[in-house]
Amino acid sequence: MRLILLGPPGAGKGTQASAIVKRYDIPHISTGDIFRENIKKGTELGLKAKSYMDKGLLVPDDLVISIVKNRLLEDDCKKGFLLDGFPRTLSQGEALDEVLKDMGLELTRVINIDVEKEVLIERAIGRRVCKECGATYHIKFSPPKEEDVCDKCGGRLFQRDDDTKETIEKRIQVYTEQTKPLIDYYTKKGLILNIDGSKSIESIFQDIVDSLEA
Ligand code: ADP
Ligand code: AMP
Repeated sequence: MRLILLGPPGAGKGTQASAIVKRYDIPHISTGDIFRENIKKGTELGLKAKSYMDKGLLVPDDLVISIVKNRLLEDDCKKGFLLDGFPRTLSQGEALDEVLKDMGLELTRVINIDVEKEVLIERAIGRRVCKECGATYHIKFSPPKEEDVCDKCGGRLFQRDDDTKETIEKRIQVYTEQTKPLIDYYTKKGLILNIDGSKSIESIFQDIVDSLEA
């Protein structure tokens, strides 16, 4: 399976990604996670990316594309992959087509998770992430057993710097202007699977699996 997860910020891409990669035994490639990892380590890439992320803006295409290109060349991607949060612009989509063409590969499906704006804001504001393993929780919809402690590894949970109401609204605007056109792009290629993201985490996963295996 060579999959893309498309959708606005807070739609539940990362949440579904964890379950999808487990089921199909493929690597999870989240460009947002790659940037956050670099910020944590204090790399030059992390420093550059942070200045855009904190404002709710996209990191420039050239930076993102070269990272994904190198990642796709790694050995574990031979069995497939799930791209989460990439591509986010038409240029990134076209660059991905080129990379895959050079590798002699094609995409299997593009899973588009759609959720209305008010729900996105509520989901993103209540999101908590484990500092150690990156597991995602929600204070109301998917709370950990013990407040601020990860069920999986015992790590502390934190709130992302870009999960403030103001930055989320900016990110949704950026999504509408720069990322949404990709829905059309992949619909024309016959690759889109539209998934209603307003349901429960479990129902959405079931819908995704049913559609992929239909
Ligand atoms: P994205 O990767 O698209 O930004 P996440 O997967 O991080 O989104 O989900 C955003 C927040 O919403 C997280 O706190 C997550 O626990 C919560 N969430 C995800 N899917 C659902 C759902 N179907 N119903 C309620 N909350 C959800
Ligand atoms: P995410 O974890 O997917 O919500 O991404 C968090 C932030 O990382 C975004 O708001 C962007 O600033 C940056 N980012 C992640 N993926 C990309 C991408 N494909 N292109 C540009 N910026 C990205």
